[in-house]
Amino acid sequence: MIRLYDTMTREKRAFVPLNKQRITMYVCGPTVYGRAHIGNARPAVVFDTLARLIRHEFGENSLVYARNVTDVDDKIIAAAEAEGVDPSVITQRYEQFYLEDMGALGVNPPDIAPHATQEIAAMVAMIERLIDLGHAYEAEGHVLFSVLSDADYGVLSKRDRDAMVAGARVEVAPYKRDPADFVLWKPSPKGVVGWDSPWGRGRPGWHVECSAMIARHLGETIDIHGGGLDLIFPHHENEIAQSRCAHGGLPLARFWVHNGFVDMGAEKMSKSLGNIVTPAELLEQGHRGETLRLALLSAHYRSPLPWTDALIGQARTNLDKLYRAAGDAVVGEPDDGVVEALRDDLNTPLALSRLIALGEPSAIRSSAALLGLLQASASEWFQGDGDSGAIEARIKARAEAKAARDFATADRIRDELKADGVVLEDGPAGTTWRRA
Ligand SMILES: [Zn+2]
Repeated sequence: MIRLYDTMTREKRAFVPLNKQRITMYVCGPTVYGRAHIGNARPAVVFDTLARLIRHEFGENSLVYARNVTDVDDKIIAAAEAEGVDPSVITQRYEQFYLEDMGALGVNPPDIAPHATQEIAAMVAMIERLIDLGHAYEAEGHVLFSVLSDADYGVLSKRDRDAMVAGARVEVAPYKRDPADFVLWKPSPKGVVGWDSPWGRGRPGWHVECSAMIARHLGETIDIHGGGLDLIFPHHENEIAQSRCAHGGLPLARFWVHNGFVDMGAEKMSKSLGNIVTPAELLEQGHRGETLRLALLSAHYRSPLPWTDALIGQARTNLDKLYRAAGDAVVGEPDDGVVEALRDDLNTPLALSRLIALGEPSAIRSSAALLGLLQASASEWFQGDGDSGAIEARIKARAEAKAARDFATADRIRDELKADGVVLEDGPAGTTWRRA
């Protein structure tokens, strides 16, 4: 029996799906206008691990997992304008990067990846329905959700009204009946991406995208809705209001599962704070995707995760240990202790400590697979390891030659590495390398 902490009820509950043959899970996916950082990677890895557990418990084909791609958004439009290209150039580029980066972390693609720009008709239909039912209204080319029309608004975040108005960082807009009302549709001026609608040419608000795509692909009530803690308000609160009001009061999700932040020192990692570390740069520095995955799973998913060099180092040491112990054993059944830990609200720190304590090679490989780890062969793992070690040693020798003003030797080492397909980049923090 899996138990999951449900943000809605603020308690851990037994996870009993509505239909064991078709368990439905939706996770809010990336807005594709820039490279994902390690904080963005956390939900991808956490919900990939939950998907693996559900498939282990209920069967390989028991789960339909959808993760959307937000490919229409003001930040995308701004990025496209800055580069002088069509928004689709930006969204295709960064979606590809996202899939590569998450793939390197062992994240399987979801079963369904709906794109906002492909689902406009479903969103328009939902907005029309909300207007018909008196939950939304048109004003100056916008359509807004009327928060006061929904007596249950605030049920997830449990904020009082003043906190909700403040937290929504509501723009002052004269056309809003209430400051907490949020946008379902907004006008697109000429030259900005848009679609024809009953309210003129425009584009959808972000929240309605998820509600419409969930209903279309998974159903009106799903088993699990996931995402980062920062999405509880206003995004998930708004999804709940739209979906419940459009679907005769049916709840949107039976379990609300939220992961905590990745911290840099005392701050949350975020683009706006400018303190981000991306999987791409960590991979370029020679870290392996599995190392980053294990590091991300080393704290419980609801806890904050401080991202440090020591964390990465520890993950690497543990993987070396696991690969050494597992060798190239054949995968069988995972260890009961590891599975039990995961069933208890995805307790990955406990699962990992039990995994590391296992002695039987086949049990190690099978249990690790449940966590998306030990996906390489032991020889692949250690070969790559020795290789990186040798490269690091040559980079160190070059740095020493430079410090001794022996530039001929330093240049020779750089050229030799280049001939071996290794490109060096000198920066303020030292020399990094990547494969050409
Ligand atoms: Zn969403």
